[in-house]
Amino acid sequence: MKTLLPTSTAGSLPKPSWLAEPEKLWSPWKLHNEELIEGKKDALSLSLYDQLRAGIDIVSDGEQTRQHFVTTFIEHLSGVDFEKRETVRIRNRYEASVPTVVGEVARQQPVFVEDARFLRQLTKQPIKWALPGPMTMIDTLYDAHYKSREKLAWEFAKILNQEAKELEAAGVDIIQFDEPAFNVFFDEVNDWGVAALERAIEGLKCETAVHICYGYGIKANTDWKKTLGSEWRQYEEAFPKLQTSNIDIISLECHNSRVPMDLLELIRGKKVMVGAIDVATSAIETPEEVASTLRKALQFVDADKLYPSTNCGMTPLPRRVANGKLNALSAGAEIIRRELSGK
Ligand SMILES: [Zn+2]
Repeated sequence: MKTLLPTSTAGSLPKPSWLAEPEKLWSPWKLHNEELIEGKKDALSLSLYDQLRAGIDIVSDGEQTRQHFVTTFIEHLSGVDFEKRETVRIRNRYEASVPTVVGEVARQQPVFVEDARFLRQLTKQPIKWALPGPMTMIDTLYDAHYKSREKLAWEFAKILNQEAKELEAAGVDIIQFDEPAFNVFFDEVNDWGVAALERAIEGLKCETAVHICYGYGIKANTDWKKTLGSEWRQYEEAFPKLQTSNIDIISLECHNSRVPMDLLELIRGKKVMVGAIDVATSAIETPEEVASTLRKALQFVDADKLYPSTNCGMTPLPRRVANGKLNALSAGAEIIRRELSGK
């Protein structure tokens, strides 16, 4: 990226109300069959338009074609039975009814590659594409086959690598893996979580990112955050291993969070997507608030490695609010660009 402080979002953006019920996770589609296929493409185009209009530098599909950042990917794999459901605790935080792994998992066909080709045709801006990370995938399933989280994560890493290679060939510039589970299962992150992630990016020539956050702005997550005390030091656990990993970019939740900014020193040398937009509130940040978070991050991240972003996906927010936040992100980054160039 030649632009200083290139802006991007962590991933999802709200869907239009004609496509899915707004402000809801796992929101059911309102269209069906051919109409749904066409509607998803239209929503993807609109989402791109919103990002471009706000001046976002690294654009995405806004995750318009998926119902959920993990489930939709898994739905495309064989070996998982979506009829056979079990209740598990997601990231040790809330209960959800999830599908069951009943046999060997495999990717029979590409999942998002067509969507990526479509987005590539629409814009010359750099594209970032989000995929779920292996550890977060296994946490959203009941495993009745491998009976080992590590083994299943390794299988998913191989599958993700197949998808990532085809996304790269379709013209994606940055492939991002969402690993909120890295903020919860510290021993596993260090034992095999980062290794599985590196397996997922094996052989890629495009840039790679890992997004680690404290979750969407839903009640289960905001309640959990209240229990974390005055300093959130979770990142401290995974950072040393990530610093020496092959991952290029680390995407983090920073704005309005209680993460001590000096933890970023532990990943010095990596590019950092600094979350400067809070996704757990409908209050739209002022450009100066965004700039203030970026300024704090600049103490620990070199300017040419700082990528202003959102804390997490914005799918549960009203579209008007999400668009306002995109504008604030751009304007906040511009304030800092001017400061850095001394104008
Ligand atoms: Zn997130």
